[in-house]
Amino acid sequence: MRLLPIILLFLSAPLFAAENAALKTRNVILITTDGLRWQEVFRGAEEQLMNKANGGVPEAAVPALREQFWADSPEDRRARLMPFVWGEMGAHGQLFGNRDAGSEAGVTNGKNFSYPGYSEFLTGHADERIKTNKPLPNPNINVLEWLQGRPGFAGKVAAINSWQVLPAILNRDRSQIPMWTPGVKDARDLDFPRKAELEALAAEMIQPWPDEHYDAFVFAAAQSYLAAAKPRVFYVNFGETDEWAHAQRYDRYLASARYVDRWIRTLWETAQSIPEMRGTTTLIVTTDHGRGSVDPQLWTSHGEKIRESGEMWFAVLGPDTPPLGERKKCAPFQQVQTAATLARFLGEDYRAAVPEAAEAVAEVFFK
Ligand SMILES: [Zn+2]
Repeated sequence: MRLLPIILLFLSAPLFAAENAALKTRNVILITTDGLRWQEVFRGAEEQLMNKANGGVPEAAVPALREQFWADSPEDRRARLMPFVWGEMGAHGQLFGNRDAGSEAGVTNGKNFSYPGYSEFLTGHADERIKTNKPLPNPNINVLEWLQGRPGFAGKVAAINSWQVLPAILNRDRSQIPMWTPGVKDARDLDFPRKAELEALAAEMIQPWPDEHYDAFVFAAAQSYLAAAKPRVFYVNFGETDEWAHAQRYDRYLASARYVDRWIRTLWETAQSIPEMRGTTTLIVTTDHGRGSVDPQLWTSHGEKIRESGEMWFAVLGPDTPPLGERKKCAPFQQVQTAATLARFLGEDYRAAVPEAAEAVAEVFFK
């Protein structure tokens, strides 16, 4: 009996390598937008929130908001909100999380707020010790940090953050992951061509939230770094979707999601314009948590007490993913699976190093 695990260990390493020998992916771009609900991703704008009473939309802004985002069918509405996600990822990749179609995607940590969510998908497991959004150094190793130490990845892993707690979640002091976060200066910051210009501009305006600057800085920095450095593992996180929801501004929440979709398109097209990345890059787009339903106290918020805020979504596009589009009636996706899935696209077995991590999602790989 005691020999069995050892035999399995010897068997599983060559099997993992053989399964992944045919992978085309050389690079992964992971993009997240904080607290964007699956309801908007799959149904588009929600009619009951496009008003003053529930959505906090100024009366004068309602007609233009409807003009931009309203359509009769959920398919048309979501294509208006996220044309890249639906035109490209929906057509050539896979999307999990449409509960209307029998596809569930869920947070495992039960807390349904940001630090536990980021930690869960970056480390591959939920950690009960994480109970706060305070910038405490994460005790857990994350998949970016681990990949950075694998052959061929040194100096090719980076992150551009919106939320100023991400350096702690990624445990910058230990992991040494090169990163940049607008509004925070650090001697170890990632270098990229537009850095000085963007830092100066960010300092010339009011930072709109206590721990976060505008997403436009994140995008501009990500675009500049991607084109110059051709990273193999690149994490870009946006935050305004969550901020405007908390502020009960459904119009700005939708506008933020629309911007994020445009930025994802630009980053994807940039990657495809780089010979080292064209046809060899996989894109993963997801979120850290969901939010409550239509009630103004609920859709604006999330957390342990708001059950629906544990519902999320997950999208993939790349050369190793069967183009099944919007997934229907399939096995539930769990946020914890993100880390091992990301590593597997690169032919790396994250669970060999972090056994408590959940398994990769098998269906996003060709057999
Ligand atoms: Zn939040």
